[in-house]
Amino acid sequence: MRELVTLAKYPFLQDTRQFIKENGPSIHELLHDPPYERARIVSIERLDNALKNRDVGRRSLANESDCIMEILSYPLARMVAVCIGDSFFKKRYALGEASHVYKYLLNETTPFLLAVAQELELTVQHNPETNIIKIYFKDYLRNAPTRYKEWKMVNRGINKGFLTISQKDLARILLESLRERINTELISRECDKNVYNVFSTDIQRFQNMLALQKKKMETTPVGKVSIEKLPPCMKDILSAIQSGENVPHMGRFSLVAFLSSLKLNTNDILKLFSTAPDYQEDKTRYQVEHITGASSSTEYKCPGCEKMRTYGICPVDKMDELCKKIHHPLSYYSNKWKQEKQ
Ligand code: SF4
Repeated sequence: MRELVTLAKYPFLQDTRQFIKENGPSIHELLHDPPYERARIVSIERLDNALKNRDVGRRSLANESDCIMEILSYPLARMVAVCIGDSFFKKRYALGEASHVYKYLLNETTPFLLAVAQELELTVQHNPETNIIKIYFKDYLRNAPTRYKEWKMVNRGINKGFLTISQKDLARILLESLRERINTELISRECDKNVYNVFSTDIQRFQNMLALQKKKMETTPVGKVSIEKLPPCMKDILSAIQSGENVPHMGRFSLVAFLSSLKLNTNDILKLFSTAPDYQEDKTRYQVEHITGASSSTEYKCPGCEKMRTYGICPVDKMDELCKKIHHPLSYYSNKWKQEKQ
């Protein structure tokens, strides 16, 4: 079993779950008993921080009690996140936990990172003599921020299905893998009514905050573009970017080309991208200007609906009546304006 402070820093580890199972209180005690009130307060702090700062926040881990409260606050925060019942919030919270862990991982040893990679079921090899770390290409593709030039497969070289990465790259890959795992787990869980009853005031506060935020986002235009009138595909890509998801290249490309066709300028487009976990303005600006034609001779066009479906970025389950009548996301947008005028 790892040290208590390690379990507090990495509450998603199997060792931490085991520790709670062997030493922790029952769910009823955790939800109601006075000694665990601090864990309940910290759990809400985790959620507030994740929503506001995209990081669940750092607290003192100076003594045993600090560590135990931190450990217990994690499953509580997850249960409350499930009861809030909002997919944007779940993604934001998952990012908040993963980004927090990433900061700790940057100061860990290679063997520790390898052990975490193993828990997250990533195929990673390490040669202790040369200190070379390699990752299986499928795990790399799924988790690396390949939107950036230095992360593109062609710039990494691949040998027998494996790519060489640095220790910092591995920490970044673990961030994405953990974010994805937490989000998937939250989606698959049902709200426990005992948890709901204990945290109902906070749950409703979060729900109100999210509803307000959503309304504000939809009704505040970006440049001259009305977010409310965007087609479901563009809303989805935008929401994924804003909740910190690793959006595939084609999604980002289509959104930029779409917004550029609506005459949105580079700075307004960049504002939409600035919430990504490792947003780099210079690199994103270069990519945006390349797509919009500001720094190249070609102005790329947003793909039509058929191509969007082929790329898997048309959310078929969210298509509405208007989607069924048009063949291009831009037509959807102009039709929405026409409908409003009528
Ligand atoms: S049908 Fe077209 S406009 Fe509608 S969501 Fe799909 S790609 Fe977007």
